[in-house]
Amino acid sequence: MREEKNWSKSARAFSEAEAVLPGGVNSPVRAFGGVELAPLFIASAKDSKIYDIDGNEYIDYVGSWGPEILGHAHPKVIEAVESAAKKGTSFGAPTLAETELAEKIVNAFDSIEKVRLVSSGTEAVMTAIRLSRGFTKRDLIIKMVGCYHGHSDSLLVAAGSGVADSAAGSVATASSAGVPDCLARLTVVIPYNDIGAVKAAFEVHKDKIAAVLIEPVAANMGVVPPVDGYLKALRNLCDAEKSLLIFDEVITGFRLSFGGAQELFGIKADLTCLGKIMGGGLPAAAFGGRADIMDMLAPRGPVYQAGTLSGNPIATAAANATLDILAKGDCYQRLESSASLLQAGLASAAKDANISVTINRVGSLMSCFFTDRPVRNFTDVRSTNIKIFKKFFTEMLKQGIYLAPSAYESMFVSLAHTRQDIEKTIEAAKNSFIRIKK
Ligand code: PLP
Repeated sequence: MREEKNWSKSARAFSEAEAVLPGGVNSPVRAFGGVELAPLFIASAKDSKIYDIDGNEYIDYVGSWGPEILGHAHPKVIEAVESAAKKGTSFGAPTLAETELAEKIVNAFDSIEKVRLVSSGTEAVMTAIRLSRGFTKRDLIIKMVGCYHGHSDSLLVAAGSGVADSAAGSVATASSAGVPDCLARLTVVIPYNDIGAVKAAFEVHKDKIAAVLIEPVAANMGVVPPVDGYLKALRNLCDAEKSLLIFDEVITGFRLSFGGAQELFGIKADLTCLGKIMGGGLPAAAFGGRADIMDMLAPRGPVYQAGTLSGNPIATAAANATLDILAKGDCYQRLESSASLLQAGLASAAKDANISVTINRVGSLMSCFFTDRPVRNFTDVRSTNIKIFKKFFTEMLKQGIYLAPSAYESMFVSLAHTRQDIEKTIEAAKNSFIRIKK
């Protein structure tokens, strides 16, 4: 692997982009602000590798932030996309492929009887919330600190007055300009992995909570798995309080197992949000659940939702091709063995260099936190050493390893990562840790 990279074309491209795109990007984290570098501009990607416009090659652990579980440009997906595109790019009318995809999702998730296709994870979660409010005739939503559910107004919120207060069920304030506080106040924000906080919120807001919304394995503050019994306790509380449990499986769905986190932990949600992998790298997402809830949606019921490009034929074709591959064979065992090899290698490289790390991993989702303490919620994540992360990121990038450019994101292992890729990554980590120590 080459050590010194020429990034001059990317640097120039970023200046040019900044003139016409706010911040030079179309989604904030792409700007590399979290690692204080200029972002790389990508020319192409194949299997486990991506290539920047300066001609550098990287082993990619971002995978477009999750969707590319098969590796980039999988031939079956490309073939499906090409063949669908030749038949027309959008009809705004029902197609057989949409029913086929819906059947695959319903078969994969025990908790899903009916599903609606949309175009992004944000849209899926935003509508699942509206549906939960329409179904329960209640207004408040519980959300956990550090979980991300897309950028709809109700979810760009922070704990009202510190996490300690929020544990007692205080309502949220807006965390983005442009979100009215009166809307933010309909969301109750509490710490992740704290069932006492959920109970307190239900007591304070008796009969007002429409739904508890959660990433069953949090993967947007780095990877933070649920503590034993937490998801089950949430399920029981929601049942007792007649609130809906919404699992945002936009990252975990079809990744932790074919039936997502629900299959892995044996818990059924009332509504499930899917995206990323589900779209096979194209803009497709979905939400689904119990038929009595889903039938509240227009045109059958009073809860409105629509989309010009929902169930788009090209995205649906990519989704069907992706799910067909994941449904067969030993995909999840292979992901587990690659990811556990990587975890063991990173842990031993850090130990050899005398650098404290806590590696959280669930299947092919993994985070290496620079701390000697367990990481179980956002407060723990915030206390990890971000300075070391930034150095680690830069050293890895120089050696051709493309990690997520933020300490608050996950590593995504794909089926295209070979043993050689994993070994190269561990070798690069060893070198990085030694340089950090100096
Ligand atoms: N939910 C989760 C758990 C996510 O990680 C994301 C995006 O990262 C979203 C929802 C929003 O999805 P999208 O970016 O497709 O709108």
